[in-house]
Amino acid sequence: MKLTAAKCPNCGASLEVNKDLEKTICQYCGSTVMIEEAIEKYKVELSGKVEVDGIKGRDAKLKQAQKHIKIEEYASAQKILEEIVSEDKFDVEAYCELIKVYLGYLDDLKTFSEDTALADPRWNYAEKIESYYNRIKKIAEDDSYVDILKDYQEKIERVISLMKKLPESKKKVEDTMEKLSKLMKRAKSVYLYSNEYLDIASESTSLKVSEFVKKCNSFMEKVEPEIVAEEKKQEKIDKRDDMIGKVKNSIITYYKLSCIFTIIFVILIFIFFLIKH
Ligand SMILES: [Zn+2]
Repeated sequence: MKLTAAKCPNCGASLEVNKDLEKTICQYCGSTVMIEEAIEKYKVELSGKVEVDGIKGRDAKLKQAQKHIKIEEYASAQKILEEIVSEDKFDVEAYCELIKVYLGYLDDLKTFSEDTALADPRWNYAEKIESYYNRIKKIAEDDSYVDILKDYQEKIERVISLMKKLPESKKKVEDTMEKLSKLMKRAKSVYLYSNEYLDIASESTSLKVSEFVKKCNSFMEKVEPEIVAEEKKQEKIDKRDDMIGKVKNSIITYYKLSCIFTIIFVILIFIFFLIKH
């Protein structure tokens, strides 16, 4: 395993990643990180630093960013644009270009759906697009941004409408997890399923929503009859213990009574002999 320097595209933390894998989890922000992308981000930032620092003035920076976007060097463009908006939080144009950057990261919208809400790191980009777009609408003094984003409008709308479905997808997963954990609580011999359960739970962040729900359901279908059987068995054991307890009690009572009767009998015989003599 060879470790390579990379950067988390979500939080920017420096990572060491295994190049042979496809994705990993960022240990700082917990998001799923596509390894290739994280390595690329590291490289671009390394080379971008010198370049960006050399550019002076907002207009020159914006132009430079647009150039990067044109040739799909999105990370470089992002760095410049973020610098611009950190200096001027009302630079609508820069926000527009940032939207283009994140749409560039999103790339193929066909493979991006609410069903991939758990597994796809691109949801972070979608979130950014939505928030930048909202910001633009809030701060823009005219409609010039509409023109800048003309060619991107359709994509932006699709992203925003997908973002609306995100809570629903997340709820679906949460509900399923709740059902699953309720069932697991009923299982007396939880250790029998715990490994499988943990495996499934850990997959809640790497599978498609539909796949995850399906997997949980089939696991529950498998496990529930076993748990019900276990509960019935336990019920039988409880009943048996109950019966044994009752029998024990009646034996003790019988024993006590017979002791008393024996003593009385002996005393009576004793008295009988006393009277007779
Ligand atoms: Zn991170």
